[in-house]
Amino acid sequence: MPLYIDVIVPLPLDGCFTYSVPEGLQNQVMRGVRVLVPWGKKHIFAIVAATGVPRPEGYDVKDIDRVVDSRPILLDNQLKLWQWIADYYMAAIGDVYKAALPAGLKDADGYKPKLELRIRLGKTFRSPGAISVARNMLARADRQLKAFETYLSLSHWNLPGGSDIKEVTREELCNESHVNLTVINLLVKRGMLETYYHEVDRIAGGLAEGHDNIKSLNEAQTRALDAVTESFRTKNVTLLHGVTSSGKTEIYIHLIQQAIGRGQQVLYLLPEIALTVQIMERLKRVFGDRLGIYHSKYSDAERVEIWNKQLSDTPYDVILGARSAVFLPFRRLGLVIIDEEHETSFKQQDPAPRYHARSAAIVLASMYGAKTLLGTATPSIESYHNAQIGKYGLVELMERYKGVKLPQIEVVDIKDLQRRKMMTGPFSPELLLRVREALERGEQALLFQNRRGFAPMIECRQCGWVPRCQNCDVSLTLHRNMNQLTCHYCGYTYTVPTVCPACGCTELRTRGYGTEKIEDEMSGIFPEARIARMDLDTTRTKNAYERIISDFSAGRTDILIGTQMISKGLDFGRVSVVGILNADGMLNYPDFRAYEHAFMMMAQVSGRAGRRDKQGLVVLQTKDPAQPVIQQVVHNDYQAFFNSQIAERRAFHYPPFYHLINVMMKHKNDDTVNEAGIIMAGLLRQWFGARVLGPDKPAVARVKTFNIRKIVLKMENGIDMKKMREYLRLARKKLAEYPRLGNVTVYFDVDPL
Ligand code: ADP
Ligand code: ZN
Ligand code: ZN
Repeated sequence: MPLYIDVIVPLPLDGCFTYSVPEGLQNQVMRGVRVLVPWGKKHIFAIVAATGVPRPEGYDVKDIDRVVDSRPILLDNQLKLWQWIADYYMAAIGDVYKAALPAGLKDADGYKPKLELRIRLGKTFRSPGAISVARNMLARADRQLKAFETYLSLSHWNLPGGSDIKEVTREELCNESHVNLTVINLLVKRGMLETYYHEVDRIAGGLAEGHDNIKSLNEAQTRALDAVTESFRTKNVTLLHGVTSSGKTEIYIHLIQQAIGRGQQVLYLLPEIALTVQIMERLKRVFGDRLGIYHSKYSDAERVEIWNKQLSDTPYDVILGARSAVFLPFRRLGLVIIDEEHETSFKQQDPAPRYHARSAAIVLASMYGAKTLLGTATPSIESYHNAQIGKYGLVELMERYKGVKLPQIEVVDIKDLQRRKMMTGPFSPELLLRVREALERGEQALLFQNRRGFAPMIECRQCGWVPRCQNCDVSLTLHRNMNQLTCHYCGYTYTVPTVCPACGCTELRTRGYGTEKIEDEMSGIFPEARIARMDLDTTRTKNAYERIISDFSAGRTDILIGTQMISKGLDFGRVSVVGILNADGMLNYPDFRAYEHAFMMMAQVSGRAGRRDKQGLVVLQTKDPAQPVIQQVVHNDYQAFFNSQIAERRAFHYPPFYHLINVMMKHKNDDTVNEAGIIMAGLLRQWFGARVLGPDKPAVARVKTFNIRKIVLKMENGIDMKKMREYLRLARKKLAEYPRLGNVTVYFDVDPL
């Protein structure tokens, strides 16, 4: 009987592919195992998605080469999650495969386990009687006897009872017995010893766990914890809205411990790797070896090992990780915690699949009947809305631990100060005064500027010429440390011109301030202060993150300057002043979420001030102090912010009242992509009418030499999404049939951020 199976291949292709299984392999294939299959001239690792499927019509089905795994590496729920992501986000399942598995598991020759050569007694010598026979046989071979005796002693075979035999590596035996390999090889040849390989963990063992490290909760926290537990009785998802430094993390720790106590596993998702460093230390202290960490700054080999451990009989009870940890296998998931749930970096932008890890994690949890806790000081509009309409439970914790007051926020009008020539570069007198006072008291300052590099652009003083990227439709950022201009969209670097190519003028000046320049100017103003910077450029490695954070935590740095990276949930004890250098850039961004992002960024970064026992101060610099969002931040008025935003969303047909789907088109030739945009919009309008907006050029209309067009679909809630996805796929197919438009890249971004 021929057996046909559907497999997923790690290529950006929709759907599964059918192969046949030769007679001898049929009892080895099952859902979730990898099989090696021929693909064109190559052979690739595919994953079995279904067995016993009907024979496909119309083409010759090929045999698989071999079955790679004896047990599934993908459990049923993980496969279901892949299918949900592919379907909901309109991504190719092959792209989900690529995103989900560490490289070592998907390349036909990727992961090499770290092997150790070990020594044991030969089969026929594993008894006290046989050992004395061996001793006699070796009586006249001094060095062999010495090696043999050393082995018996290291392995504990020479102890009475013969139980509890220790593993001995060949290296250890050589070192301890002071004989060379030839001698050991002789013993192996004579059958008295034998060698074998053992796979060694790369994952370093953690600290021992210590339950006394779990902190007892204060009254408000206990009430919140009880409310969460109560809420879980009726709701699958609960939102914990707790102000910064209210002790949300301590509440999570209690919930995790309870879940582990019930024999369940916990997935703890964080948006940023920078954050995992601090939370990891806190969780390690409590959960020790039961905690596994999983994110992209870990080596691929480490990630493969964590994956395998999750499949083993002794998986980690708690996984702390960034976005991709949602793909790890779990056997008995009971609780999912999504910390800083409002963070947009939970959504993957590029490449596909463009999934939101918060939504994916909620779906995953529901597959296991597990509960999900969303935690944040500034809930996303979507989540808070879901809590308001009763879809999610809601628990609020509005006081900081130990009653420390939320920071006082002083708004500084930099437009007025500029007019009166009172600014020192980007710094107001107020900010400099407050930083100076903090330094004098031995306290720390945190300065937030959401642009990395030295200056966002350089400009000719004479004619206004600005250098731009060849590949993208953006101006170049000056990085002075590296003495180059960089495109932040494609990463291309250029040498800094000394002469304007447009007019020959040699006076080129910088415009605006990036973190590098802020750092530069600060060290000029405060030469004694120890200053550090945290942005993408200074944190390319895992250790760099840890070092910057631990230096600042330990007080080895006085002033930390950073991008949004410093705004996220970091817990520093001695920060008394936070400076927000320029609030306006965030507010003026042309996007319906600009206010939401700006509010969250400012509220979060403010929350870093004055955390342990003292009220902090925030100096918020803006040209528009009366701006409502600025006022909402100043008064820490989340409700007012939410109410104004939700009213706008309702009035202008945005989420959560409408679903958005972006249809993106890319091509090197602008005329081609222009035509594709017009035709695509026409096709979509046939079915969706006025719900189709565009095509338009996005704010940056050319990236990495590709010209871009964008169509936005606004779908009212309740529309048949399944039908709609079918139409979208059909439109893409029809477009590809047009002459010259076949090679236009078309992709969908569902629920774009
Ligand atoms: P959040 O996650 O809400 O920002 P954290 O959990 O980071 O707040 O708490 C802020 C600080 O207060 C941390 O240093 C934390 O260790 C401390 N803290 C909070 N609750 C307690 C508690 N019950 N006992 C001891 N320390 C606590
Ligand atoms: Zn010029
Ligand atoms: Zn570029």
